[in-house]
Amino acid sequence: MPSRLIEDLHPDLQPLCREFLKRCQAAGLDILITCTYRSRAEQDQLYAQGRDGNTGARVTNARGGQSAHNFTLQGRPAARAFDIVPMVGGKPMWRATHPAWQQAGAIGMTLGLNWYGRPGAPFREYPHFELARG
Ligand SMILES: [Zn+2]
Repeated sequence: MPSRLIEDLHPDLQPLCREFLKRCQAAGLDILITCTYRSRAEQDQLYAQGRDGNTGARVTNARGGQSAHNFTLQGRPAARAFDIVPMVGGKPMWRATHPAWQQAGAIGMTLGLNWYGRPGAPFREYPHFELARG
């Protein structure tokens, strides 16, 4: 199971993630973290979705070890990205045109996070917030 724990994020990303959640809450947004760290094996499973005869849509372009979610420090999970979904009326809102996505994205970018829902992102992935390369 991929992790949803803030403690499995990179030490530099943990305070940013907590601040992000705090500011979202203050703005009236209910945000659920769906993934922080995932292992290489879990990443490979995800990569196989929609490929090699597997059904469904492709969900990632990263193989095991290539995703910011797979990052470790001294063998410990230290993901450089987290994924979210806004909860609207108690249910996850997956429709990316809902204004909650733009609101959450703007809050993340104010904190210096690299939000992949922004125009011109390397690829469009609305749930994905990544620690900027320092
Ligand atoms: Zn992600």
